[in-house]
Amino acid sequence: MNEQHLSRSLILTIDDDDMMRLMLHDILGREDFDVLSAPNAHEGIEMVKTRHPELVLLDVRMPEMDGFDCLKAIRAMPGMALLPIVMLTGADDIDSINRSFQSGATDFIAKPISWPTLPHRLRYLLRASSALSRLAKSEAALRTAQKIAHLGSWDWTVTDDRMQWSDEVFNVLGVNPDGFQGQRLDLYQAFTDADADNLHRAIERCVNSKKKFHLQFQLYRPDSSGRIVLIRGEPIIVDNTVARIQGTIQDITERQRIEEQIRFLSYYDPLTSLPNRKLFKESLGQAIADCKRCDTKLSALFISIDRFKRINETLGPSVGDRILKMFADRLVTEVQNSDYAADSACDKSEITVSRLGGNEFTVLLNRINDTRCGVKTTKRIFQVMSESFKIDEHDIFLGINIGIAVYPGDGIDEDSFIKNGEFAMSRAREQGQNTYQFFNKSLNAVAYHKLSMENQLRRAIERNELILYYQPKVNMRKMRVIGCEALIRWQHPEFGLVPPAQFIPIAEDSGLIIDISNWVLETACTQMHLWHQQGLPPLVMAINVSANQFRQHGFVAQVDSTLARLGLAPQHLKLELTESILLENIEEALVTLREFDALGVHISIDDFGTGYSSLAYLKKLPISELKIDRSFIRDIPNNEDDMAITTAILALAKSLSLEVVAEGVEHEEQVAFLLQQGCETAQGFLYSKPVPAAEFAAFVEQFGA
Ligand code: C2E
Ligand code: MG
Ligand code: MG
Repeated sequence: MNEQHLSRSLILTIDDDDMMRLMLHDILGREDFDVLSAPNAHEGIEMVKTRHPELVLLDVRMPEMDGFDCLKAIRAMPGMALLPIVMLTGADDIDSINRSFQSGATDFIAKPISWPTLPHRLRYLLRASSALSRLAKSEAALRTAQKIAHLGSWDWTVTDDRMQWSDEVFNVLGVNPDGFQGQRLDLYQAFTDADADNLHRAIERCVNSKKKFHLQFQLYRPDSSGRIVLIRGEPIIVDNTVARIQGTIQDITERQRIEEQIRFLSYYDPLTSLPNRKLFKESLGQAIADCKRCDTKLSALFISIDRFKRINETLGPSVGDRILKMFADRLVTEVQNSDYAADSACDKSEITVSRLGGNEFTVLLNRINDTRCGVKTTKRIFQVMSESFKIDEHDIFLGINIGIAVYPGDGIDEDSFIKNGEFAMSRAREQGQNTYQFFNKSLNAVAYHKLSMENQLRRAIERNELILYYQPKVNMRKMRVIGCEALIRWQHPEFGLVPPAQFIPIAEDSGLIIDISNWVLETACTQMHLWHQQGLPPLVMAINVSANQFRQHGFVAQVDSTLARLGLAPQHLKLELTESILLENIEEALVTLREFDALGVHISIDDFGTGYSSLAYLKKLPISELKIDRSFIRDIPNNEDDMAITTAILALAKSLSLEVVAEGVEHEEQVAFLLQQGCETAQGFLYSKPVPAAEFAAFVEQFGA
């Protein structure tokens, strides 16, 4: 049973014929209808307004206002667009029937009326009208919902390229409905060419593969507001082909902004805007996974501010917050400082600062190649944080402690890694302000050893504990000394003669290398000058140049003035540089090399073959010598590969007219092979180890030059 049978429907009849009104009233009243009657259009219109009938029977022919005008007047009333209005016309009055429909009639009934069928006709009309009004209501609700959700729907028919949009599509895309052609092109025109291309491809793919799609675009609306829209499409398949695509377009700008805000709130610390513990943990997990995959290392510094509680208690939490913010800013500025990143051998994009909570921060150093990177960063942080924090009239000094954890080693996953890092931090705190502590004890020992070596090395320069040894370069065919290489040693009061490998890296890290290198240049040149005065034949002195020294501003001028002061000809000095020094900044290196070339000082590439120099680079560089690294010479004549490499380097050097020195020659077999391959110069224990100046002079006299 439907609604109509439960409640009686109210029907209004408007007719000037009294007889007709009476019969309608009588016959319909006996069925399940309530009937109202009006003798003319004016009264009828009034009753429509006040009594809200569910259906109107309206006579076409009436005096004063006829049925058509009455019909128009009712339709024009608000909310009356869907009211079923049935016109009573003459039997063959086709003209009236046409006019009725044109004026908005729902249906017509011809007079004379077929009384038995009339109630059925009206019931059917009432049912249809109620279905229509339900549909209209749900359409209106859908439109409102679409408006609220900024979601429009579209429908595209494949065969005839017909496109339909709901109202909201126009709103979302900012397209004027007047210019709408009802084709697929309308959709494309709302986007940039590249996005339109993508959309076109997605639609074609949907048609061909019968699979739904969704795409997200940046939309630049004509009113120039940038929006993000999500387009979805789903194929409607008929007879196994895609007949239509139904889809939606949604403006998700606001949703994304809210999502972004939620993300920010759950992943960032609102006070400092730094990543919080949760994000740190996630990034760390990711970084650890990268380490496993790419076989790299990472280090994290766990920093805590000492006695921060006291600041909060004495100066109040708002001052505490300001200090934390300043601390965070200073930390970020320091680790993002590009000079520093280069100096620490860390890529600054691989460094992230987070706030773990309270007074605890972390610095994650991803993809480091050396655990010392962490110590260097730590020292820089101690240094910048030792400066006061100015809050109003207060100068506040903070003490910090740093725990250092390294992966792999200090934990198997992010949880254990963080636990160990925080443990190291608390151990550091126990040891007093401004200390750092590795989680791994052996790294502590190494770090302490380096630190103490650094302090001792600083004193070594003042106390003249550094000395130069000299190792001859020999022409193997002529059996003559042609020059020497100055090699530094440290005459340590406790440990004896310390080889350079044990202190040059420390000197480089701490910056002491500059003083040491200057001392080497001065000492080696003075020695050469002395030998000349003592009557030793003119030889070439080679010194090793460090990366820092080479990059130092004014290095060329310094060499120039040293030579001039001692009256030494530039061709008596040779500078040994490793490939890595040159490759680090090839353009800048080239400028310095050209200056040396102009000065007449020769350049040699040390440890050649261990770096990545390409032939293209070598050709560009004004160099005069290659020193084949000892690792290629050592196993001659037993290692075929090494022999092949050595032969290749010799061929390369010959084609570029470079001299070649074989490093580390210890056996006659090596000499035989090298001579056979056309290499005449060597440096190695077979002839002499590096020796003090006096011994070197004696060697030259005995061996010949
Ligand atoms: P280098 O410049 O490649 O020096 C050659 C090294 O090979 C020297 O080690 C030398 O003693 C060693 N060597 C030479 N012939 C043989 C051989 O036949 N067998 C073996 N086993 N070794 C041989 P040393 O003196 O320990 O120096 C090591 C490195 O330290 C040098 O490699 C150089 O890179 C650096 N170095 C030495 N003196 C200085 C310096 O004054 N300044 C700078 N920046 N670096 C220096
Ligand atoms: Mg050398
Ligand atoms: Mg070498």
